[in-house]
Amino acid sequence: MSDLRRVAVWRDGAAVAASADEPVVSAFDLGLGRGDGVFESVDVVDGGTPWLAAHLDRLARSAALLELADPGERVWRALLAAVLTDWPSGEEGVCRIYLTRGLSPDETPTALALLSPVPAETVRQRVEGISVVSLGLGVPADFRAGAPWLLGGAKTLSYAVNMAAQRHAHTLGADDVVFTSLEGRLLEGPTSTVVWASGGTLHTPPVETGILPGTTMARLFDRAASDGWPTAVTVGTVADLHAADAVWLLSGVRGAATVHTLDGVARGDDGLSARVRDLLAR
Ligand code: PLP
Repeated sequence: MSDLRRVAVWRDGAAVAASADEPVVSAFDLGLGRGDGVFESVDVVDGGTPWLAAHLDRLARSAALLELADPGERVWRALLAAVLTDWPSGEEGVCRIYLTRGLSPDETPTALALLSPVPAETVRQRVEGISVVSLGLGVPADFRAGAPWLLGGAKTLSYAVNMAAQRHAHTLGADDVVFTSLEGRLLEGPTSTVVWASGGTLHTPPVETGILPGTTMARLFDRAASDGWPTAVTVGTVADLHAADAVWLLSGVRGAATVHTLDGVARGDDGLSARVRDLLAR
């Protein structure tokens, strides 16, 4: 294991740094037993977290959807400062911040931060692009908007289905997944937002489908609009992705991964990925 792993936990009103091999959470924590909690993955570049604010906003919204008390920005910034101490500034990292139900719903939630280097495979996919398969998620596109118990739009710790979908993609020889609704509408990737370019416009599916509002997509769309590249929230299908000029899966750490193969069919990007990357980097 790399020694570039950092952990900090909120304990007795302070961020306490811990060794990566030391237990910091009780085995009875409901985040472990039930996946009852929320998290964020934040890219660490040049020793800092330039996009942290958007992640903390989303964490607060996720926590509210789970009726979890968010300890607030001061706590998260203290945890980040603790894991970033001595972090080599040239090393790109991924910082995960977790908020779990803790030992019981009546007790204080558990808050912790982990920092580790960005995996080589993530960098490879960012650089080389990805092969993607479409898989059904088994929900109607408009169901989760009226079903708050399904926690649409919350970034919960319950990612077992998302991970299983990626493993299934691997068995099919692909890197990643685009989920579709029962009617065949585009949703999101297991850890990413779907964006496609067609007709001179950037498109992404509506969050009313219960998908996570992507911070990377939001940043891209803001900057694209300022740069004269129109953006739209569009109900789409896999056929729209096949017909598109370019398709990307967007996420904070991997950035814009160009989809070079969709359901076994090779596709191009019309040279647009460079512009997308440039907009995201600004
Ligand atoms: N959708 C899901 C399910 C995700 O897990 C993620 C990544 O965290 C995203 C979308 C993309 O979000 P972001 O761009 O904020 O990383």
